[in-house]
Amino acid sequence: MQELLKKHWGFTAFRPFQEETIEAILKNQDTLTVLPTGGGKSLCFQIPALLKEGVAVVISPLIALMKDQVDGLREMGIAAECLNSSFSPEEQNRIVEKIGNKEVKLLYLAPERLNTSGMTRLLQSVAISFFVVDEAHCISEWGHDFREDYRKLGTLKDLFPKTAIHAFTATATAPVRGDILKMLGFKNPRVNVASVDRPNLIFRIKPRSSLIRQITDVLDRHRGEPGIIYCLRRVDVDELSEQLDRLGVKNVPYHAGLSDAVRKKHQEKFAQEKVDIVVATIAFGMGIDRSNIRFVIHAALPKSVEHYSQETGRAGRDGLPSSCYLFYGGKDYRTWEYLLGGSKNEKSMLEKLKTLYQFCTEPQCRHKALVRYFDQNYSAETCKACDYCLGEVERVKDSLVTAQKILSCVMRVKERFGADHVARVLKGAVTENVERWGHGTLSTFGLMRDKPLAYIRSLMEQLVGQNFLKREGEFSTLSVTPTGWQVLRGEVVPVLAEPFIAASKKKEVEREQKKRREGEWESVDTGLFQRLREKRKELANEKDVPAFIIFGDKTLRDMARIQPVTKRDFASVYGVGERKLEAYAELFINVIKEYRKIPS
Ligand code: ADP
Ligand code: MG
Ligand code: ZN
Repeated sequence: MQELLKKHWGFTAFRPFQEETIEAILKNQDTLTVLPTGGGKSLCFQIPALLKEGVAVVISPLIALMKDQVDGLREMGIAAECLNSSFSPEEQNRIVEKIGNKEVKLLYLAPERLNTSGMTRLLQSVAISFFVVDEAHCISEWGHDFREDYRKLGTLKDLFPKTAIHAFTATATAPVRGDILKMLGFKNPRVNVASVDRPNLIFRIKPRSSLIRQITDVLDRHRGEPGIIYCLRRVDVDELSEQLDRLGVKNVPYHAGLSDAVRKKHQEKFAQEKVDIVVATIAFGMGIDRSNIRFVIHAALPKSVEHYSQETGRAGRDGLPSSCYLFYGGKDYRTWEYLLGGSKNEKSMLEKLKTLYQFCTEPQCRHKALVRYFDQNYSAETCKACDYCLGEVERVKDSLVTAQKILSCVMRVKERFGADHVARVLKGAVTENVERWGHGTLSTFGLMRDKPLAYIRSLMEQLVGQNFLKREGEFSTLSVTPTGWQVLRGEVVPVLAEPFIAASKKKEVEREQKKRREGEWESVDTGLFQRLREKRKELANEKDVPAFIIFGDKTLRDMARIQPVTKRDFASVYGVGERKLEAYAELFINVIKEYRKIPS
């Protein structure tokens, strides 16, 4: 195992649960392995595939993803193929022949292919080492990504009773795990569940104020780095993409309203590093394996905590620190409510949405909250990687009194008005509506006169998110919930975040962030790193493969740190296996020599 890890992948140590899983697979035991995104699931089945007789059949939901995996494996000198509907009959025959000749160790298949009688016959005629079901949560209706085709995988055990099946997923709550085991007909499986935590992701969650400013602030901080910006609707994508264009920020839009050809083109541009920023709906994602995504921005509320964790999970697959920003507004909540209305599992989806909103609006450690959502323990005192733990969020000191002011104002207007009006009453603004309804005489009129309107609105949003206030009906009327009443009676003290942080605090936060980033690049020559990146891009273009298939960012950073000029030193760089050493050492050494002005 160790030998193969070094030989093909150029890594020296296994990550948590990789060895355990590989060992269980070698023993022919059915397995379910839950590892977070970027946790290294592929390697868990790729190594045993090399060690075992026959071909391992990998079921994977997306053609684009399969192609990348197969390209990546070939780059490492591993015999892999995929079969999908985009192949001509001749190509398919060629691959089938190769399998017959035992020249293939890993075969990637889309689930709909598996369920054809021709394919079943073919698979029954060859020696199969084991089956892999990747992204196995797709099999469960409890999951957030259910796929009809995946359900048919239940027949695998009937058709191949002697062959072990190994399921892999990143996000599985206990019911989803149960579903996977049941649907695949596992007997005595080995179940390995790692912590869902992604310590290298830095979470920041803020109310949306001036979105374009908030986004450009992030882009400034991540200049020249790849990132994804998620919007809620297609129109938002188009609008933001154009807005960024006008500001001179190179980007491509991606959503289901664009033609297949355009989507494919944009995805490839991103994968080959011709463009670093994608503005997208959640339609963009599953096919994305680019490992060096340094930031993900949610310009609006995602759909559920599962979605949030999966979408942010696309950042930092290479394990390097990466940032996730979420800018939410109460409007998003209602948009989702509307979009989800009438859907098949409306009730559970709305429940999930509500939980997500609570997660966003409650000042707390984001890592801890995410981990707990997936029914796991989080024992660290501080994660050192979220806005809350980094001290960027301040709690409102007199939160009980503040909340009581707002809630009682909602009562005073007889629970018949929306947030805007209530906020104006608290602010003491004399508007047409205030005059018309005589709200200027209420005891709560002007009770928060000294605070900006946006401040009051933000606190109200937090109270809605944490279910102290309820928003309903055509006019988004606010009313006080039973837990809100507990606040009014002083039995419950809500935890609220200061909507604005003081300028001095902001400076301090920025200094901290800068220091942190400099630490990440310690002893890495960034100039050389950029040159190496250019070389990688050039090679990726030549070969028409995504850039990360040549080398990951972590490898390039290590190269820019060690600066090897001999093949022997080059072999010690992180992620350089035998095959890549032969293929690329000289090319990259030349870049290093040129940069260091060492004559060749
Ligand atoms: P997952 O499918 O779990 O999201 P991948 O299998 O795509 O993750 O692996 C994520 C990244 O981690 C890849 O770039 C992979 O090469 C790297 N990786 C996997 N295992 C190791 C290891 N033991 N040491 C270093 N890097 C690893
Ligand atoms: Mg994977
Ligand atoms: Zn934290």
